[in-house]
Amino acid sequence: MDANPPKILFVDDDKFLLDMYALKFSKNNFEVNTAQGTEEALKIIRDGFYPDIMLIDVVMPGMDGIDFLTVLRNENLIGKKTAVIMLTNQGLSGDIVRAKKLNVDGYIIKATTIPSDVLAEVTKIYANKKGGNGQ
Ligand SMILES: [Mg+2]
Repeated sequence: MDANPPKILFVDDDKFLLDMYALKFSKNNFEVNTAQGTEEALKIIRDGFYPDIMLIDVVMPGMDGIDFLTVLRNENLIGKKTAVIMLTNQGLSGDIVRAKKLNVDGYIIKATTIPSDVLAEVTKIYANKKGGNGQ
């Protein structure tokens, strides 16, 4: 077991998805934190949880995922080393255009996200990030 598991923060308004991903990633040696919305996520980060990886849903009530990431970037709440992955809905290509301007490391289309696929995709994106891409 890795003594220093990667820390991951999931931000999604869908509690069912949060619980499902939390279970999957916890079982695979990640330190998992979840937030059911951007306000809760901001609190977790401001309280000192520094994620290595963030998965951020785009479509959420109140502040959406892209506005949320804008706040994180503007206030330097996460560093360049944090891998940021957006959970996007199929057909919302405008979201991807907006997110690209905010240095996003990857996208996962929500319609196709069974937990083992998400785990594989996140692991791949995080490995690329640690390998020095985008630095
Ligand atoms: Mg949503």
